[in-house]
Amino acid sequence: MDFLEFLNKSVTPYHTVESLKALLACAEDENVQLFERGGALIVVRPPKEVCSDSKFRIALAHTDYPTLKITPNPDSASAGVRTLHPEIYGSPLFTSWLDRDLGYAGLLAYERNGKLETKLVRGDKLFRIPQLAVHLNRGVNQEGLKVNPQTDLNALWTAMDGRERFVDALSAELPAGSKLLDFDIQLFDAQPANRGGFADEWIYSGRLDNLSSCHAIAEAFAAADALEKDFQVAAFFNNEEVGSETREGAAGNFLKSVLDSVSPLVCSELAGVLSSSFALSIDMAHACHPNFVQKHEGNHAPVLGGGVVLKVNSQKRYASDVFSNARFKLLCEQSNIPYQIFVMRNDMPCGSTVGPAISASLGIPTVDIGEPMLSMHSIREMTAVADHEKMTKLVSALYGSSNLP
Ligand SMILES: [Zn+2]
Repeated sequence: MDFLEFLNKSVTPYHTVESLKALLACAEDENVQLFERGGALIVVRPPKEVCSDSKFRIALAHTDYPTLKITPNPDSASAGVRTLHPEIYGSPLFTSWLDRDLGYAGLLAYERNGKLETKLVRGDKLFRIPQLAVHLNRGVNQEGLKVNPQTDLNALWTAMDGRERFVDALSAELPAGSKLLDFDIQLFDAQPANRGGFADEWIYSGRLDNLSSCHAIAEAFAAADALEKDFQVAAFFNNEEVGSETREGAAGNFLKSVLDSVSPLVCSELAGVLSSSFALSIDMAHACHPNFVQKHEGNHAPVLGGGVVLKVNSQKRYASDVFSNARFKLLCEQSNIPYQIFVMRNDMPCGSTVGPAISASLGIPTVDIGEPMLSMHSIREMTAVADHEKMTKLVSALYGSSNLP
């Protein structure tokens, strides 16, 4: 599946899982085992022959992104329109959600003929959170726009003479005779992804963090052939943006239970297999912003188009260590892929990824890497086409190299 199409289709973690399955189905490899848990997905391709030194080659990413989730009782009426009250998910850049065309999508859970069912939905209507006019907010350009997430982010969804309750609009999506029991609906940037830059060298889109990594992994996995003796694993977790400690998150038991279930195939002990395995934890990296270069550590400031970013942090917010970094560098050199290194400034806190949770709980040497991007956690982010191609090539090397370092 084309990258832009993948971005446009993957508007919630549930939709991302569907897009990934569609992309991976292109492999049409009946040996590939698929494990699904809500908005998370793990795929495993066993080797041609399992032997005592078989290992796991793993690539990790997350399917979720910062957003506004519709609350269980969202309805209000104000100033002649009906509004929806959202709850913040993760840490979106609030100002970027104003004056945008907002779609809504997610999962409905309902009862029909005594059975529990779910349905994936994507509305075809556009909502909006309008900004206050400059005339009513004098000084905003000098003082900066401050957004109160409780009072300022209610979304306008219909006129006063439209539907009264949002839940009725959702129920209308269900087959006749159904009763809606619960929903997980979020807003998303409805503007399609675009190529940008004078030479079409960039991509502008919502959800690049971390759909870009999901796409690179799935493309590489689908194109790979089974290895002689190593397992190829791709794991896509939900809930990274809220700390990963969920059933579908990287700090849960999902990956461990999957590896356990395929481990009887491995002749030697699982603990030994895991510590000699290798994982790429792939999440987006902060490219140096041309208007704010002082926000980066001068010697560790990755640039757009400069290649894959190795993320290193002494406080261990990243899983990268001397052993995994060395393997990563060797893999890049063997595959002729340029890399750059990111270290956060000492006077600013560092973000994190799914890498530390997986590395700590399973004992798999893991390196945190990513494509450089700008506007991270904005509703509309930006990355470079060249870096996405390099990342896809790197994951292909992980899955394909005959002598993985
Ligand atoms: Zn991320």
